[in-house]
Amino acid sequence: MKKVLVLGGGFAGVDAAIHLQKMKYDVTLVSDREYFYIYPTSIWVPTHESEFSEVCLDLSELQKAHGFDLLIDRVSAISAKDNRVTLESGNAISDYDYLIVAMGASKMKPKGVENTLSICGAPEQALEIRDALDSLVAKGHGKIAMGFGGNPKDTSAVRGGPGFELLFNVHNMLKKKGIRDNFELTFFAPMPEPGKRMGPQALKMMDVMFNKLGIKKHFGKKITGFSEQGTNFEDGTTLEADFTMFIPAGNGHDVIKASDLPTNAAGFVKTDDFSCVLNEDGTLSNIYAVGDIASLEGYDWRAKQGHIAEVMAKNVAHNIDARENGRDDFKGYHGHLNILCVMDSGNGAAFVYRDEKRAFMFPMPVVGHLLKKGWGKYCRYSKLGKIPRIPGM
Ligand SMILES: Cc1cc2nc3c(=O)[nH]c(=O)nc-3n(C[C@H](O)[C@H](O)[C@H](O)COP(=O)(O)OP(=O)(O)OC[C@H]3O[C@@H](n4cnc5c(N)ncnc54)[C@H](O)[C@@H]3O)c2cc1C
Repeated sequence: MKKVLVLGGGFAGVDAAIHLQKMKYDVTLVSDREYFYIYPTSIWVPTHESEFSEVCLDLSELQKAHGFDLLIDRVSAISAKDNRVTLESGNAISDYDYLIVAMGASKMKPKGVENTLSICGAPEQALEIRDALDSLVAKGHGKIAMGFGGNPKDTSAVRGGPGFELLFNVHNMLKKKGIRDNFELTFFAPMPEPGKRMGPQALKMMDVMFNKLGIKKHFGKKITGFSEQGTNFEDGTTLEADFTMFIPAGNGHDVIKASDLPTNAAGFVKTDDFSCVLNEDGTLSNIYAVGDIASLEGYDWRAKQGHIAEVMAKNVAHNIDARENGRDDFKGYHGHLNILCVMDSGNGAAFVYRDEKRAFMFPMPVVGHLLKKGWGKYCRYSKLGKIPRIPGM
């Protein structure tokens, strides 16, 4: 039985392991966390709408459900040349036939970023954001700023959606407590039109939302760094805040940058459409890269998303199996590129969709929020194999 080593226990790694195990490969998954973190539903942890544990799914439960081997350890180095993965524990693994790299992205580190917390960073930061908001609520007033930054070397690694969602949820929480008027909420981003890649209609609707909810906008000024006072901009001004939530753009994973894998300018692993890392002579290697760690090619508006990570993972299982059986009916991700999200506001949501032909956003008061909540449960139980998977979800 051919051995597959999967690095990373997020959307990409977990799905690759599940699909390959089903195809009877000998799969080992390595993760530095004991749980799969359902990032899209983590936006409710800071506002107490979800418990942290509800956003985590133990990898040991997934292991029991699907039967792959699990190793909790941190990958410290990858050598394609030597067919070797080195772990922080000092162990090295080299007896694999295929390697699937799925460790997500590292983050840009702007000056003073330690003065901020991110909803897209280490999972524990969601709890720290909750504590910071709790102490402001206890005080009864304050200034809260939330925003995101860019990566000029790779626009697909920019993530703003969860920032919008969290701020809308905070607005809603403060309103429910009857103290919204005592708070100044501001959304900031260096680009003049944040959210533009969701399409022109979405951009207009976001603007309407900000005005309706009384959220200030601070757009189009380059961020030079952060301090205890707030966010500093290139024109010497500071957006003062008692609490700043900032989502730095993604950047190539540190382990990848130090490896001999081919990368794009931002450090994401270069692959072909079939997610395979090619040898220098253009032939297929035994390494695949899936999810946020991979360099995403295509439209200007392309974005690294969980459902794209899952498409890549499923394709890779199919592609490895095709190779093993002497076929070349490989499946690629380019044809599946789209933006798909239910952007939550705490009391409703907006459905956002963009592909090659269409871009639209439509509001779903109340039901949208319930839909996203339902998706969180669907995600957990379908990954555990307790309910069937719906294609594309
Ligand atoms: C707050 C938030 C909301 C989002 N909402 C949506 C949404 O609505 N829809 C959507 O499609 N996408 C959404 N996304 C994007 C989606 O979550 C990501 O695209 C997805 O998580 C990528 O999956 P991944 O497996 O590539 O990376 P990750 O989920 O980041 O997983 C990487 C895994 O690798 C492990 N790892 C990292 N380094 C090492 C190492 N050195 N050794 C061992 N293991 C390691 C990590 O512990 C982690 O388990 C959202 C993201 C965030 C942060």
